[in-house]
Formats: sequence, structure tokens, C-alpha cells
Amino acid sequence: MTLEETIAKLVDANHILAQERVVDAFGHISVRHPERPDRFLLSCSRSPELVTPRDIMEFTLDGIPVDAAGRKPYFERFIHGAIFAIRPEVHSVVHNHSYDVIPFAVSKTPLRPVFHGAGNLGKSMPVWDIRTKFGATNMLVNDIDKGRDMATALGSNTVVLMRGHGCTVVGQTIEEAVLSSVYLQVNARLQTTAMQFGDVSYLHDDEIDVMQAARAAAPGNDRAWEYLLARSRR
Ligand SMILES: [Zn+2]
Repeated sequence: MTLEETIAKLVDANHILAQERVVDAFGHISVRHPERPDRFLLSCSRSPELVTPRDIMEFTLDGIPVDAAGRKPYFERFIHGAIFAIRPEVHSVVHNHSYDVIPFAVSKTPLRPVFHGAGNLGKSMPVWDIRTKFGATNMLVNDIDKGRDMATALGSNTVVLMRGHGCTVVGQTIEEAVLSSVYLQVNARLQTTAMQFGDVSYLHDDEIDVMQAARAAAPGNDRAWEYLLARSRR
């Protein structure tokens, strides 16, 4: 994709995540720069629902704006650069504070895929606790050291939960990061409901392996993106 096409898709992704309530006034999505793998694109500090192409800023992987042009960046831009730096196959990162997901970041109950739409989320969704290394903070990933510590906790996984805060989700494409974020939230709701009925039958590890192996060609991905995009434009 060209830079212009990439920015247009990133704007669409902002609107989809807002429509699905994965993000509200807060939360953001980035994409690796299509021509400069050592840089990434992310909106300035705006609610995702309102983001336009003119809001998209370029950053180094340390979270330094290349040309801010008077725009104010998100405090938590370091989440994105730190992950792009250690995960070369990742091309898009979503950070959000989904209220359905947070209970699993603050309790002893692991969040695990319960339905086929969540198979790509993987077998493990670790919880990162900012307090372990940084003590008492305002909970925000507001410098590169915190970003790197969170990225280390993410490791090779797709999702990292953030204690008392939210979560971060990665994808090899914008579409993958958006769909995983949407279905992470759906899975959290379904798991919460199922747990009220008693023991839950989660997806088995070998089933998750099958789905992850076919993730790029997963049937329905294009259909899901088209559906979500149409909903965001109503
Ligand atoms: Zn946050």
C-alpha cells in the first residue's frame, strides 16, 4: 500500500474501533510506516471517532514525532514504537481500555478464547503490571522505558493485558489488529457470561494452533472488515 492508502485505512480503523466501543475518548491504533519500517503512523491526541487523515503523525520507534506541526501526540505513543522495535512481523498495534476486558487484567481468572472468532488471540494472554518495575505511577505508558517493559511482557503473543488499565493487541496488518481487538472484547463478554453458568469449555490448544496457522487466509476476514467498515459509516 502507498502512504496515502495506509493513512486512509488507518483512519477507517479508528472509526471502526470507535463504532464497536473498543475505544472511546481514549485508546489508539498505529501502523508501521509502509516505506520506513523504523517509523510508525498514529493519530495526534484525538478521540478515534473524530480522526481524519490530517491528524495522522509520523513517529520514530522511540516515540519522537518526526514533524509535529503543532499537533499534540498521545501520551501513550510509546506502547506502539516499543512493540514495532522488537516484533518485525507486527505492522499494526491497538491500545484500548475496553471495559469488558479489564476485569481479566485485575483478577486471577485468565482470559482465554471461548469461540472460534477468538482463536487468533492465541493460547496465552499475559498480564503486565506496571507496578512491578515502576512502582506507584498514574498507570500510563508515558515513556519509552515503560513501553519496552510492556512489550517484553507481550513477548511473542497477540494480546497483553495491562493491570488496572486495559490491553494492547498486535496484528500483521491493520485489519488483523482491528479484528483481534473487536473479537477480544466479544470473547471477554462471552467468557464472562459463560462463567456464570459454571465450568467453561475453552478452545483447546490444538484448535488454536490450527486457527493461528491459517490466520492470514482465515475465511471471513475480508467479510468481517467490510461489515465493520459499513457499520462505522452509517
Ligand atoms: Zn491507556
